[in-house]
Amino acid sequence: MAGHIPEETVDEIRKSVDIAEVIGEYVQLKRQGRNYFGLCPFHGENTPSFSVSSDKQIFHCFGCGKGGNVYSFLMEIEGYNFIQAVQKTAERTGHSLPEQMKEEPAGKQDPEAQSMLEAHEWLTKLYSHMLRNSKEGKQALQYLLDRGFTEEIIREYQIGFSPTSPSFVVTFLEKKGYHPQTMVKAGLLNVNDKGDYSDRFRGRIMFPLRNHLGKTVAFAGRSLGDQQPKYLNSPETDLFQKGRLLFNFDLARSAIRKTKTIILFEGYADVIAARQAGVENGVATMGTSISEVQAQLIDRYAETAIICYDGDEAGMNAAAKAAKLLKLTGCQTNVARLPEGMDPDDYIKKHGGDRFKKEVIDASDPYTSFIINYLRRNYNLQLEGDRIAYIEKVLQEVAQLDRAIEREHYLKEVAADFDISMETLKDEVDQLKKRVPSAPSQGKQKKNWQNRSIDSQSMHHKLLPAFHNAERKLIANMLKNPVIADKVQEELGGSFNISEHQVIVTHLYAYYEDGHAPDISQFIERLEDESLKNLVIQLTMSPNAEEEITDQELGDYIHRIRMENTDRTDIKSLEAEQKRAEQHGDPIKAAQIAMEILRRKQELKNTH
Ligand SMILES: [Zn+2]
Repeated sequence: MAGHIPEETVDEIRKSVDIAEVIGEYVQLKRQGRNYFGLCPFHGENTPSFSVSSDKQIFHCFGCGKGGNVYSFLMEIEGYNFIQAVQKTAERTGHSLPEQMKEEPAGKQDPEAQSMLEAHEWLTKLYSHMLRNSKEGKQALQYLLDRGFTEEIIREYQIGFSPTSPSFVVTFLEKKGYHPQTMVKAGLLNVNDKGDYSDRFRGRIMFPLRNHLGKTVAFAGRSLGDQQPKYLNSPETDLFQKGRLLFNFDLARSAIRKTKTIILFEGYADVIAARQAGVENGVATMGTSISEVQAQLIDRYAETAIICYDGDEAGMNAAAKAAKLLKLTGCQTNVARLPEGMDPDDYIKKHGGDRFKKEVIDASDPYTSFIINYLRRNYNLQLEGDRIAYIEKVLQEVAQLDRAIEREHYLKEVAADFDISMETLKDEVDQLKKRVPSAPSQGKQKKNWQNRSIDSQSMHHKLLPAFHNAERKLIANMLKNPVIADKVQEELGGSFNISEHQVIVTHLYAYYEDGHAPDISQFIERLEDESLKNLVIQLTMSPNAEEEITDQELGDYIHRIRMENTDRTDIKSLEAEQKRAEQHGDPIKAAQIAMEILRRKQELKNTH
């Protein structure tokens, strides 16, 4: 199965990633107990029935039945073949594959993408070197220092300088052996009609944009003097999609995990300023409003998102848009307030990091109060029509709150501001609540979704014949425990009644005989058939799979399976006998046997 990658390597690479992290890049996952849940990427659904187990390192969809380990997931979602899936995973963990493996193209991210990535690495180093060691660069360095960048921050962010010469990078990359056309595609070089290549970035301070793995995938260049445009970024390429990248996510990740909070800024300069001031969990979008993918990424890593945009009209509008999107993902969303006309960088420079943390970040408004204030600017509250329209908008927001105490809090404010009775307001909100389903919010509602999908599955299994359930339960336990597998092998061997089960146990016996420990994620590599893989996953992810079985139960299951087996064999031989009687012209005997078969089948049904 593993092609020519040694099996141990395949295992080792698989074990060094967390499947939840890989899948989390495609699916918004929420932790629920031991597992993560989200909407299945393989079939359309509105309620999450897709689950990922970090313990077992597998995923499973209770809706469409798809399941597998990290390799199966990547194969399914990216269309990779097995080897490509292993390669992709190896890249992420920094594992080196045997040399001949690396040469092999890895699907969408082929040698071209690889050389684009390498060229970015080289240029990150080159630009950073030029900042310190060229005459122009030294000016740029002084400019940075004058603007409050510390040496440490300059190093940490690998800030550099692109020389003004039009072909400095052209020559450099050529010497390194990169094809200039590929480098144009990478957004590092320009080409004119005549086919002459030139450097894209010239005489600029260069900020590498790193992906979440810490690899440079693009640059942001900022001009030093009057050069236009003031800000020049890499174009979108195969490596760099603005809507997917959050600036600083690689460095912020651990702080985000620790604080469960992420701070979203408008630009990289704010993130860097904030980090210098000791705010380590900041990220930024790259000059675009936040995308759904980014919102989901934020939601997956953080419980709370604090939006900290510029304190002007445009900043407020962008904040409102981002807040709505983040709120929809289920993230607790706050919006920080900056004095009119100030951006986070200005504020930190003027008031310092401590005050920024205390008076801006910690004092940020919860979503609802932000939006109530924000809506106000669209209405002239002196006019009755506007006033009513505004109150209606506010009530719509309030109606979406899950907790009565929160609703009450805002309603009191409205009641006081507009001199309306609480009773009237509450009535209105109740009406609205009936009409508008509340937005997804933390916890409660999602839990219900999850239970619903599991319930329907266990309901389905209750309807299976007893022997069928016995086989499922046995296999689920055999997958966890080689001692049970041993015992079943001794007692039953391969004589399960369901043919898929026969195949699975046969593989499982062999798997344990090879000296492997229980490991679902590894075991399913041995099953060629997709539907068998899915079945195994389904068995281990079923709601009762965690329960240990007693010896008594084990005996009962084995007994039940054996009985079914005998009954089936009996019926089969009776059927053969009936045929023979018919062939020998003995209709009475044939009829008698037919009756007997019917009786046995009835009996079989009754015992289930
Ligand atoms: Zn599905």
